[in-house]
Amino acid sequence: MNLQDILRDLPSVDEIARLLHGEYPHGLIVREAQRVLGTLRARARAGESIDPSRAAAETRAALESLASPSLRRVINATGVVLHTNLGRAPLPAFQPIDGYSNLEYDLATGKRGKRDVHTSLLLERLLGVPAIIVNNNAAATYLVLNELAAGHEVLVSRGELIEIGDGFRIPDIMAASGAVLREVGTTNRTRVQDYAAAISERTRCILRVHPSNFHISGFAAKPTIAELAALAREHKLPLYEDLGSGCLVDLRPFGISEPLASDSLQAGANIITFSGDKLLGGPQTGIIAGDEALVQRVRRNPMFRAMRADKLICQALETSLRNLLLERWEEIPALRMLRMPPEAVRARAERLAAQITGASVAEGQSVAGGGSTPDQTLPTSLVALPGNAARLERKLRLGDPPVIARIERDQLLIDLRTVYEKDEAQLLAAILSAMS
Ligand SMILES: *Cc1c(COP(=O)(O)O)cnc(C)c1O
Repeated sequence: MNLQDILRDLPSVDEIARLLHGEYPHGLIVREAQRVLGTLRARARAGESIDPSRAAAETRAALESLASPSLRRVINATGVVLHTNLGRAPLPAFQPIDGYSNLEYDLATGKRGKRDVHTSLLLERLLGVPAIIVNNNAAATYLVLNELAAGHEVLVSRGELIEIGDGFRIPDIMAASGAVLREVGTTNRTRVQDYAAAISERTRCILRVHPSNFHISGFAAKPTIAELAALAREHKLPLYEDLGSGCLVDLRPFGISEPLASDSLQAGANIITFSGDKLLGGPQTGIIAGDEALVQRVRRNPMFRAMRADKLICQALETSLRNLLLERWEEIPALRMLRMPPEAVRARAERLAAQITGASVAEGQSVAGGGSTPDQTLPTSLVALPGNAARLERKLRLGDPPVIARIERDQLLIDLRTVYEKDEAQLLAAILSAMS
C-alpha cells in the first residue's frame, strides 16, 4: 500500500469521537484523537508500517492511561528498606485530613497560629533541642549555609565533599547558598589542626558532613565531633553537622550503626540537619535542630517560606514522630522492617516458598538503603523462584499491584523483609500468575 492509501484509511477525528462518545469529556477525546492520528501520520510518512484500524483503540488506551493513577502502591520485594526509587521510607499509616484543618490556627485562642507547632513539641521531646522542618534535607542544608555563612567561608574536610545522588553535591549546594567553600585536610585524613589553620576572620561556620553512601577505609582519620566542637567554641563559630539519614533511635542491636542525632548534639554540634524519610521512617522532610538562637535565625530566613513543608507532610511527620516518641516501632514501617529478626523473615520465606512449586529458600542480605550504612547488611532469607528471571521480573513489575523484585545470578529473588505481611496473599497470587 502506498502512503496516500494508508493515510486515507485512517479514521477522522469525528469518527473516533463518535466511537468513544460519552466515555470521556468530548474536548479531551478530540485532543487525544488528534494527537494519536498526528503520531500515526508522522510514523507512516517516516516509512514505518502502521495499522490505521488501531487509531480508535490507541486513543482509548491513551484516555484510559490519563484517567488512571500514575503514582501507585507497589510491593517492594527487593529487601532495600529505604528504596530511593520506591519512595524511600514507606509512609506510616495515617488518614490524610481531606478538608480544612487547624494548620495555622490556634484553637485555644482563636487566633492565627504557626504550622510548626504540630511537629515542634514532638521534635523537641525527641531531640532535646528546638527544631523546625522544611521540604527536605537539601533545602535544610541550603538554608543553614545561607543563613550562617552567605558571603563568608565554611570549613569542610576534603573527605566530606560528597555527592548523594540525583545532583545533591556539597560544593554545589554551598555555592548556591552563597557560602564560600574552604576545603581543609585531604581526602583520607583530616586533623583538627587542619581546621584550626584555616580559620580566619572570613570563617563563619565549621561543617561536618556524614559521608552517607560511601565509606573510606584504610589509612583514614578525621576528628571527632567533640574535638571539632571544642575548636568551634574556642573561635566562637557554630559547628554544623549534616547527618543525612538522621537516626533517632539506636538501631545498633539490629546491625545498623548510624550516628544518632542526639549523639551529635551531645558531642557539641550547634546545629544539625537530616532527612525525615531515611532512618527516621517518615515522609520527605528536612529537619533542622540545635541551639535556639541559630534555629530561630534559620526560621526567619526569607527562603524558609519557599521551602516550608505542606500540610500533608506536617500530618505524616507528626504521625511518625509521635510513633517514635511513644516507641510504637510496629507503626513505623521502616523501623519494623529493619528490626525484623532473621528468623522471622526465614519463617515467612519458608511459608511462601511452600506454596510455590519449585521455589526454594536461600540465605541472603537485605540493606537499609537510602544513602545510609553503605557497607552494612542485614541477614535475611530469600525466596528464589524457578524459571526465566527476566521474564518473571517483567511480569511481576507490570502486574497489579506491581511487584518489584531483584535478580541475582539469573535468579528472581523475593525478600520478604520489605513486604508488608498484609500484602503476602497478593504477592503469592502475583507470583503464581507470573509463573503460569
Ligand atoms: C540524603 C542526604 C542529603 C539530602 O537529603 P534529602 O532529604 O534527600 O534532600 C543531604 N546530605 C546528606 C549527608 C544526605 O545523606
